[in-house]
Amino acid sequence: MEDILQLERLTKVYGKGNHTAAENFTLTIKKGHIYGLIGPNGAGKTTIMKMIAGLTEPTGGKITIFGNEKDLEESRSRMSFMLEAPYLDGSMTAFENMEYIRYVRGVAREERIKEILDFVGLADTGKKPVKQFSLGMKQRLGIGMALLPGPEIMVLDEPVNGLDPEGIVDIRNILKRLCAEEKTTILISSHLLSELSELCTDFVIINHGKLVECFSDGELEERCRCFLTIKTNDINRTAAVLEEEFHVTEYQVMEKEEIRLYTHLDEVEKVSKSITDNGLILTKLALEGENLEEYYLSKVSQE
Ligand code: ATP
Repeated sequence: MEDILQLERLTKVYGKGNHTAAENFTLTIKKGHIYGLIGPNGAGKTTIMKMIAGLTEPTGGKITIFGNEKDLEESRSRMSFMLEAPYLDGSMTAFENMEYIRYVRGVAREERIKEILDFVGLADTGKKPVKQFSLGMKQRLGIGMALLPGPEIMVLDEPVNGLDPEGIVDIRNILKRLCAEEKTTILISSHLLSELSELCTDFVIINHGKLVECFSDGELEERCRCFLTIKTNDINRTAAVLEEEFHVTEYQVMEKEEIRLYTHLDEVEKVSKSITDNGLILTKLALEGENLEEYYLSKVSQE
């Protein structure tokens, strides 16, 4: 797969050397992948995206886009960015807002507006001014405006922030289709990790401006530990039974009065029998796995 965006030891120090927002951040982005940029508040996500967009100058390091490290403005014309709430004129319709972008970005075909409004589910908004749109509709229009020039890479900073579950799913479906049908590469940040795990092919963890880890969805699956979730009417007694009968040490008592047992995964029947034989009432016994959120929290807490 082709490398289309490379960040090498990218560094940003704000002010007079007193705040390092990004430090030696190195990342290679491959064509057609969807990268989820995740990190705590203030980790440096927006700063990285702003440097890619050319909205803030790096204080160190190198950016290469489409193999070009010299004329970045030319390369950026093949990209689109939505780094804060999209700039929309509330008095104009969706079509008129798109028409404005068509003019500014020099997109030739007027029919493309109709195609894109269709794609983002706003084809039937007619004469309705954008100020009467819901937040979800505004975000979809913002994405439509970013899509108008047919970008090869899209950089989106928290595009689902504040949306309801339906709005979030709408954006997810739009981005998935874009990636599948147009092979558009996407870099997206969000604090909604369950959402990112549904959408992204790759994950990039950033903390204190530094890259913690970059891994694919397949690698995430391999790294997430599996466990047996056990729920009974007396969790402490259950833990004692597991220790006495199976000599287990690798387990955790979780909130919600559940135990996570990391061993004996292929002995579900034996575990279940010994719990019930000891007079306990078993209310849940399931083989489960860690998710992106738990993996992320374990990585960030190690920092
Ligand atoms: P969030 O998840 O809260 O949006 P973030 O990961 O996007 O955070 P950034 O906005 O990149 O983080 O900020 C990284 C750090 O740089 C923060 O400590 C922030 O206060 C600081 N910072 C950002 N912009 C500036 C600026 N213009 N001048 C000085 N410091 C800044």
